[in-house]
Amino acid sequence: MTMFDLDGKTALVTGSSRGLGRAFAEGLALAGARVVLNGMDTKRLEQAAGELRAAGHDVLTAAFDVTDEAAVVAAFERFDGEGIAIDILVNNAGIQFRRPMLDLQLADWQRVIDTNLTAAFICGREAARRMVVRKSGKVINIGSLTSELARATVAPYTVAKGGIKMLTKAMAAEWAADNVQANAIGPGYMLTDMNEALIADEGFDAWVKSRTPARRWGRPEELQGTLVYLASQASDYVNGQIIYADGGMISVL
Ligand code: NDP
Repeated sequence: MTMFDLDGKTALVTGSSRGLGRAFAEGLALAGARVVLNGMDTKRLEQAAGELRAAGHDVLTAAFDVTDEAAVVAAFERFDGEGIAIDILVNNAGIQFRRPMLDLQLADWQRVIDTNLTAAFICGREAARRMVVRKSGKVINIGSLTSELARATVAPYTVAKGGIKMLTKAMAAEWAADNVQANAIGPGYMLTDMNEALIADEGFDAWVKSRTPARRWGRPEELQGTLVYLASQASDYVNGQIIYADGGMISVL
């Protein structure tokens, strides 16, 4: 199906040294894109890049902190200087911090909001400034089930992911006329490092399995199809949407 073909496209996936970001990068590469991996830990980044290259994919790396505006601006200027046009941006980098709100320090609140929400604005703005000129581009933001529903102990994460849903609509409102599509994916409970403690917790594991109609956690590669759809020509008239890929969890009580 050529409408899903990403040949000739370049994608930047933030936070792609591991976890969902790494699977997103692989999925885009499998559809034909050149991918730029990003993270802060350069060793982990180079290892991921090496593994994807060994599998035959065209991979570049760009280490920077997505919350550092100057670093993001500098990275996009470097791309310009090297003739690299980012056709697809996946705002995936994220962190979790669990603490009841009564005990939550402002600095921890701010760090989670900066990484999970503000960084998507900064990276999105830099990418879209170039996309609107080229009259072509795809921005895919990574939300969560907490884009819709709250859960105790993760207030800043919930607020950031709720914000991601509305940031996606705001991007669509401003950039759609220039043929830039902004959409989001809301993954359910996935098997990644971020959830290591939850996966190991028997009670939580049982809760995820009973609460999810599919009766299991999701595997990162199961999000690749949704991402490729949103990154490709197949979704050119889809704008401001968040697609939940969650084994059905958000649809049931
Ligand atoms: P991981 O903790 O496994 O990976 C996080 C990635 O983000 C790493 O590559 C890390 O890089 C990078 N990162 C973190 N902070 C920064 C930063 N400031 N600048 C650049 N890179 C950074 O997380 P997941 O793969 O589980 O999560 C990825 C995204 O998916 C997040 O937005 C998360 O909220 C979302 N999500 C995850 C779900 C899940 O069940 N796992 C469910 C729903 C949403 P480094 O190695 O350098 O630290």
